[in-house]
Amino acid sequence: MNHDLIVIGAGPGGYVAAIRAAQLGLNVACIEKEQALGGTCLRIGCIPSKALLESSHLYHMAQHELGAHGIHTSGTSLDLAAMLKRKDGIVDSLTKGIEFLFKKNKVTRYRGTGRLAGPGKVAVDGDQPQELTAKNVIIASGSKPMMIPGIEFDGKHVGTSTEALNFDKVPEHLVIIGGGVIGLELGSVWKRLGAKVTVLEFLDRIMAGMDTELARDAQKIFEKQGIEFRLKTRVTSAKYDGSKCVVTVEGGEPIHCDKVLVSVGRVPCTEGLGLETVGLQLDAKKRIPVDKHLRTPVSGIYAIGDCIEGPMLAHKAEDEGVAAAEFIATGYGHVNYDAIPSVVYTEPEVASVGKTEDELKAAGIEYRKGSFPFSFHGRAKALGMTDGYVKVLADAKTDRVLGVHILGPRAGDLIAEAVAAIEFGASSEDIARTCHAHPTLAEVMKEAALGCDGRTIHK
Ligand code: NAD
Repeated sequence: MNHDLIVIGAGPGGYVAAIRAAQLGLNVACIEKEQALGGTCLRIGCIPSKALLESSHLYHMAQHELGAHGIHTSGTSLDLAAMLKRKDGIVDSLTKGIEFLFKKNKVTRYRGTGRLAGPGKVAVDGDQPQELTAKNVIIASGSKPMMIPGIEFDGKHVGTSTEALNFDKVPEHLVIIGGGVIGLELGSVWKRLGAKVTVLEFLDRIMAGMDTELARDAQKIFEKQGIEFRLKTRVTSAKYDGSKCVVTVEGGEPIHCDKVLVSVGRVPCTEGLGLETVGLQLDAKKRIPVDKHLRTPVSGIYAIGDCIEGPMLAHKAEDEGVAAAEFIATGYGHVNYDAIPSVVYTEPEVASVGKTEDELKAAGIEYRKGSFPFSFHGRAKALGMTDGYVKVLADAKTDRVLGVHILGPRAGDLIAEAVAAIEFGASSEDIARTCHAHPTLAEVMKEAALGCDGRTIHK
């Protein structure tokens, strides 16, 4: 079969690239080895974790927070099987939705493992092996959990996020290796459902890469929620000894628990792609090298998403998918890497775009800072969600917004305004002079922007 474009991988990068290219009139194929389309994000990542975060939040609210609203519940109980089933239903409907979108856009789907088989050729390995040809190929092969020496995964007691999305009962004690995004999100889920949760983090802080002040304040809130953190703790081994999990740490006593979640980062899936058949070499971190148009050094081969440089985020992959498809079809297409938000879906959420204070200081860029707490805001009070604040960082000379960092309710939704501001090169005054509906949480962004000029009204 010959196609104009073959996309390897149907995660958020690959399936979006395929649909966009088809919209632009190309004859597109997409190869995916899993039965369900959507990649890690839809099947075993962003979506199922959000479903469990929401369900566990409601369970926690029913038990601990509704009383403050004068609502008293009794007999609240957990039906974990039903909670997991709801999550699986959401995943199922969304992955089927992509099948529908492929049909609607006439994207041909091949089931199997895609592999380059020489210039212009892609093999599909699977039940029905076949060889396809195409002028252009986009590799969107994604990433997988990083393994570290000494950790003995058994998929039942010591596992990754995939297993932690499917525990069939609430662990008594869950030890999480890595205080990053996955550890905090899934730690929140199981803590709310009743587990004791201990996070072991090698660094002296959680959420590496996020603004330090925000990460520090977030940790205090998570600690109040009962999550235990042990920082500057390097895990050297973890295994199930037949009755308990044993986690050893450098310079400390072993920890015994009943489940271990290993979330120490992810690595690109770049093995077995047949890159050698076209002379394509990986970089030192096993990523596929690309230029700003997502082109690899080999003509006609592009790569996007987690298998190339940059944050491993679904929306970054999506935007790259669109950019690569548009570049192939039209000769134009780019991604603004300065305006990619990052969100941690804890309670409260943590969201960030642009430069952190740490980065601005390191680069010697003078900035003005405005911040505003949710606790002063009427809607946040009405919602009973008053933890956190919005922080806006603007260039001291030009007032251009350089970074926005939010710890607080619906931070992941609120950050969209800041992303748009950065995308359009807005100043803090632009945000401050924009009318924000009252009473909405978005007003906290406006007040923080006013703060860059010392003009907050309600503080
Ligand atoms: P991460 O990179 O966010 O965090 C891993 C943490 O593990 C780091 O802080 C690191 O210092 C620590 N660590 C490494 N080795 C250790 C050791 N031996 N002992 C103790 N700590 C150790 O990784 P993650 O949480 O696994 O997430 C993986 C990827 O998935 C990230 O790129 C993330 O962006 C993405 N993701 C994003 C979201 C989201 O956007 N909401 C959600 C889940 C995953």
